[in-house]
Amino acid sequence: CGIVGIVGHQPVSDRLVDALKRLEYRGYDSAGVATITEGSLHCRRAKGKLINLETRLKEEPLSGTIGIAHTRWATHGAPTERNAHPHFTDGVAVVHNGIIENFAELKDELAAAGAEFQTDTDTEVVVHLLARHRREGMGRGEAMHAMLKRVRGAYALAILFEDDPSTIMAARNGPPLAIGHGDGEMFLGSDAMALAPFTNAITYLVDGDWAVIGKAGADIFDFDGYPVERPRQTSTAGA
Ligand code: GLU
Repeated sequence: CGIVGIVGHQPVSDRLVDALKRLEYRGYDSAGVATITEGSLHCRRAKGKLINLETRLKEEPLSGTIGIAHTRWATHGAPTERNAHPHFTDGVAVVHNGIIENFAELKDELAAAGAEFQTDTDTEVVVHLLARHRREGMGRGEAMHAMLKRVRGAYALAILFEDDPSTIMAARNGPPLAIGHGDGEMFLGSDAMALAPFTNAITYLVDGDWAVIGKAGADIFDFDGYPVERPRQTSTAGA
């Protein structure tokens, strides 16, 4: 039920978990983190409280200066480690809040084309759609746009592509998603409160928006793929 992302120049794993703690009030049943380090995606996930994820991360730390993190409130699929986000396949990792309403039909289509599903969630169709579009030769933005044209429902999404260790992709339709502007680092969060220790300069995505977030700034596009400007606000969360 919460999303955080950081793209910057310092290790992100501990900061991502700290930011998730500020979203705990929304409730959750499991949690996870993904980073890109030395050119590959790595994930740690755990059922239950964030302390379990922290224990996992102590056993097997995650390095990397780019990452996404999630607290899940299961809607489809039991609250297990296997169903915890991030979901990942073929160099794509996804965290999602909300519900993909047409997931059953997409799952049938993707499975018939050879996709191997590893979870019982509605979310996993997003990962396989993106992976398929990339295999078809689409660039990351193009794949993102094509995926968003296929899914219906409510979503806040944060996505890592292994072949681009300097960018987080995000999309919003329903659940809120805020981009935070830092000093040589950029942030993503379900609300300004999650980002308060990092920055109070916030840009809210509007429903239908998607964004390409690098450490120097974010490019925002509307549902039709046209660049849009959204206002930068000064948040008083955490003040
Ligand atoms: N529908 C997704 C799931 O059940 C996301 C739930 C959430 O918003 O955390 O995994």
